Amino acid sequence: MDDLRDLYQEVILDHGKHPRNFRKAPAANRTAHGYNPLCGDQVEIFLELDEGGVVKDICFQGSGCAISTASTSMMTQALKGKTLAQARALFEEFHALITGTGEPDPEKLGKLAVFSGVREFPNRAKCATLAWHTMCAALENRAEPVSTE
Ligand code: ZN
Repeated sequence: MDDLRDLYQEVILDHGKHPRNFRKAPAANRTAHGYNPLCGDQVEIFLELDEGGVVKDICFQGSGCAISTASTSMMTQALKGKTLAQARALFEEFHALITGTGEPDPEKLGKLAVFSGVREFPNRAKCATLAWHTMCAALENRAEPVSTE
């Protein structure tokens, strides 16, 4: 179990240091800004939805702690090519994983399961879920910034 935990930490640290899809999307048609005052994490999500409601491109900018940056980075990887319904379903799975409510499906979560350890640190849960709440706001085209408070 300790080996698994080390592996999980390694994945999170890697994405925290070298975030994937850390850029702006010139063709983005959905954007949202999220803020976690508890930790100071800031994230801006850029989403390009095609006419069929499929995530053609998703990327982000911002500054935050390793957990929030890694979570956003891995979310962008997980959501590319997904439909709106699949994106929302994955959000539900991830939320269940982080908060310990409901029964997350490890098969659907894939690599995102590395965040299961966050459940033991409730004050870091907002760092891990900020990107996902912000992504949902972008999908709904909500104008006001997302705050975890
Ligand atoms: Zn944070």
